[in-house]
Amino acid sequence: MLITHDTRCALDTVVDLVNTAPEDDAAPDALPDVAALEDFVRNHEISDVGTLSEFDLSAVRKIRGRFAAVFAAPNPRAAAALINDLVAAAGTTPRLTDHDGYDWHVHYFAPGASVADHLAADCGMALAFFVVAGEQERLRRCEAPDCRRAFVDLSRNRSRRYCDSRTCGNRLHVAAYRARRKEAAG
Ligand SMILES: [Zn+2]
Ligand SMILES: [Zn+2]
Repeated sequence: MLITHDTRCALDTVVDLVNTAPEDDAAPDALPDVAALEDFVRNHEISDVGTLSEFDLSAVRKIRGRFAAVFAAPNPRAAAALINDLVAAAGTTPRLTDHDGYDWHVHYFAPGASVADHLAADCGMALAFFVVAGEQERLRRCEAPDCRRAFVDLSRNRSRRYCDSRTCGNRLHVAAYRARRKEAAG
């Protein structure tokens, strides 16, 4: 599966976006205000979104929930329906570009799109390619019991089960190791 620079950026962006959501009602939102959204936009080099407002913040939080649903989709058909809705609502304008020295690739967001529509269009299409390639199951949520962060499994044999956060993979390895030792000790 060919993953271009822009697809890769869009994937990183959408994973980070989904993971800003609070894990439960008691946890803090990592996008609490417009300043946090401005940081997010800057860190992910989301261009041409103009001055951000409370309206942008609530619109981005809304699509964040819809992207989270894509990562939780049980099969390609469910993911496709969710992605179609996201992308249709954003109003896309595919166009070829070779900005900033990158090879030719397609941008999907319409000129002058709000940040929420920009994310819905370009991240939505990045996820669409996984469905097209028969790789929807690579869009995952971490299997650690108290985590559930979103991630994209780019391992060759689709074997990744835990998110990047160091605690998840490691903690479970340690638990498995301890269990084996206990068994061996009888
Ligand atoms: Zn680009
Ligand atoms: Zn995790």
